[in-house]
Amino acid sequence: MGRRILILGGTGEANALAQALGREPGIEPMVSLAGRTRQAASTGVQTRVGGFGGAEGLSSFLAEQRIALLVDATHPFACRISTNAVDAAQAAGVPRLVLLRPAWQPIAGDIWHGVGGEAEAAALIPPGSRAFLALGRQHLAPFSARGDVWWLVRVVDSPEAPLLEAPHLTITGRGPFSLAGEVDLMKRHAISHLVARNSGGEGGRAKIDAARELSLPVAIISRPPPPPGPVVSTVDEAFDRVMGSLN
Ligand code: NAP
Repeated sequence: MGRRILILGGTGEANALAQALGREPGIEPMVSLAGRTRQAASTGVQTRVGGFGGAEGLSSFLAEQRIALLVDATHPFACRISTNAVDAAQAAGVPRLVLLRPAWQPIAGDIWHGVGGEAEAAALIPPGSRAFLALGRQHLAPFSARGDVWWLVRVVDSPEAPLLEAPHLTITGRGPFSLAGEVDLMKRHAISHLVARNSGGEGGRAKIDAARELSLPVAIISRPPPPPGPVVSTVDEAFDRVMGSLN
């Protein structure tokens, strides 16, 4: 049996790392997805889907599957699973590595207003605005209170019920998005403000670049603190650390 690496995923980086490790003899990467979207993007390697049942469930999984190393390559805002990973790895005595892509940094022309969360972002948008919400559907509740703003909401899967109580239009789409496409979308809907999380990475960057090109203000939600322990910021670094730790 090869050395088993469990990669907590849901990001492009997790898939890229899994595929690189899968090409190495004697390494068996497995990606874990939460199952939030109806159809998961293909990871290219063995994949399991669904929660583990908290830190305890994850710890049992690590032991049962004889996982040699746990890589937390989840989204920078996915805090619960990252906290569970810390506790589970410790309980199971399995080493853990965090792959966390760097946050975006503002450049000349960006009009950014840093906020601590969705409620603060909702409060910042002026009445009468037309704002683009590029957030996950589970983070939309605070925007319902702003009936004096028109919202363009983009989610991966079409919803079964309206996502907001405020005036809005829901569109669907899965990244990566192009700069030209994001500029066109924002122009078509006469968007005046963007609300986004500082997710980092290339796939979601186009909306930030589009807002700069159109001189639109961005309410940008700051990241939570990174999980404790060793952190790398690129797939290549993660690959080297994983291979080094198995020798
Ligand atoms: P979260 O709030 O940190 O996690 C909530 C629960 O979902 C966890 O306690 C765990 O359930 C389950 N879970 C989360 N990630 C999992 C994974 N990779 N494999 C198995 N179970 C997982 O997570 P979230 O913010 O909802 O994100 C869920 C997934 O979507 C993550 O994989 C993340 O990388 C991806 N994602 C998140 C965002 C975002 O904006 N947060 C954006 C893009 C992609 P149990 O306790 O039962 O194990």
